[in-house]
Amino acid sequence: MARVNSKKKPYPEPERLSFPDAEAAFDWLPLILDAYIISDQGIYDSIQKEMAKKGRRLACARGCSSCCTTHVTIPVYPLELFGLYWYLLDKIDGAFKHRILEQLQDFIPGKGCPFLIDGACGIHPMRPMACRFFNVFNKACEDGEDPFYTRRHDVLTPDEKLKDKAISKMLPHHGILGRTDKKEALRNGYIYRFVRNLQEINWPKIAVRIKHGDRAPLVRSTME
Ligand code: SF4
Ligand code: SF4
Repeated sequence: MARVNSKKKPYPEPERLSFPDAEAAFDWLPLILDAYIISDQGIYDSIQKEMAKKGRRLACARGCSSCCTTHVTIPVYPLELFGLYWYLLDKIDGAFKHRILEQLQDFIPGKGCPFLIDGACGIHPMRPMACRFFNVFNKACEDGEDPFYTRRHDVLTPDEKLKDKAISKMLPHHGILGRTDKKEALRNGYIYRFVRNLQEINWPKIAVRIKHGDRAPLVRSTME
């Protein structure tokens, strides 16, 4: 959703985000950044394959964002929320931060993503995995269109193994460390118990926390 791309430039190869100081301070941060680069690299490879083999064109581009208002079910993993909160607190500032916080404070569930700013994702580096995995070929979505239902063949099919690989990077945060335990957790869908819908989170409450510079960890009661 709302990815950066253009016909003139080749689809850029992803790079792992790196925040050495913050990654040293927060042990959960490298986990989510690793999960993101695994997702991004796998998606990049799949898109390249589709473009090379089938001559398809990726429609997603900066400024193309109707998906961000049409989709009202965007799953978010706990570590993604940690990452997002940290990003909003420490990595954006000035007028842009003010703008996002205003949108979060005015957020009405079901009315589109509160992070959409001027037709682009305001938290693009830390956008949820669900947004990263949703990519559409051939033509941009029309307002209100969900191509998953209108033209499924134009939607990139996410590789489930790739998703599992990315999710397994987050499992240590839930105390799941060994290979066998991770495999079992993926098999029984353990992590899905903790997934929230982005639209069901109390963003106005979170905006107030951010305004006060509250660094206490996000827990369920602080999001409802
Ligand atoms: S093509 Fe569709 S999914 Fe891709 S960025 Fe545009 S609106 Fe979103
Ligand atoms: S986080 Fe919101 S604005 Fe960003 S890509 Fe996802 S739906 Fe769009």
